[in-house]
Amino acid sequence: MQLTNYIRTIEDFPMGGISYKDITPLLMDPKASDFAVSELIKGLEGKPIDKVIGIESRGFLFGMLLAKELGVGFIPIRKPGKLPSETISQSYDLEYGSDTIEIHEDSIQKGERILLHDDLLATGGTASAACKLIEKLGGELVHINFIIELDFLEGRKLLPKAKVNSLLHY
Ligand code: IMP
Repeated sequence: MQLTNYIRTIEDFPMGGISYKDITPLLMDPKASDFAVSELIKGLEGKPIDKVIGIESRGFLFGMLLAKELGVGFIPIRKPGKLPSETISQSYDLEYGSDTIEIHEDSIQKGERILLHDDLLATGGTASAACKLIEKLGGELVHINFIIELDFLEGRKLLPKAKVNSLLHY
C-alpha cells in the first residue's frame, strides 16, 4: 500500500509559503490507517513499551491507536492550561517567539519505557521538548515515531537519531 496516496498537500496553509501536509485522507480510510499502525509498530523492532505518549493534537489520533495495538496506556502532551491535574511544562523556541507543552506529572512511573508519537516532524522543536518532559519524569524514551518527516528541516538533529522512525519522508 502506498501511504503517500493518503496524504494531501495544501499550499499556503495556515499561512502563505507553508506547504501543509494533511493526514485527514488517511484518517478516513480504515485499511490505510490500519496499515500505517502496523508499519509504525514494525519500526519498533519488538522493543517493549509500557506507555505511548501523543503530542496535541494530531499525535493523539495514531498515538491512541498505537497504544491500543500494543495493549498499553496512552498519555497526552498538551498545550498550556488544557490538562486538568498537576502538570510540568517545557518551553521551546519557534522561528518567532516560543511555545510550551505540558504533561501530567503523575503520568509516567520512573523507568517506564516510552514510545513518543506525533503525526509530523518538522523543525523538531515540539518533539525535542516532549523528550525533555519524559526525561524530567524519569521515563525511558525507547522510540519516537512519526507518520511524516520533513527531511529538509532536519528536525531529526534535535532528537536521539537512532530512536527515530518516520513512515514518509518529504
Ligand atoms: P516542529 O516542532 O517544527 O517539528 O513541528 C511539529 C509540530 O507541528 C507537530 O505537532 C505537527 O503536528 C505540526 N505541524 C507542522 N507542520 C505540519 C504540517 O505540514 N502538517 C501537519 N502538522 C504540522
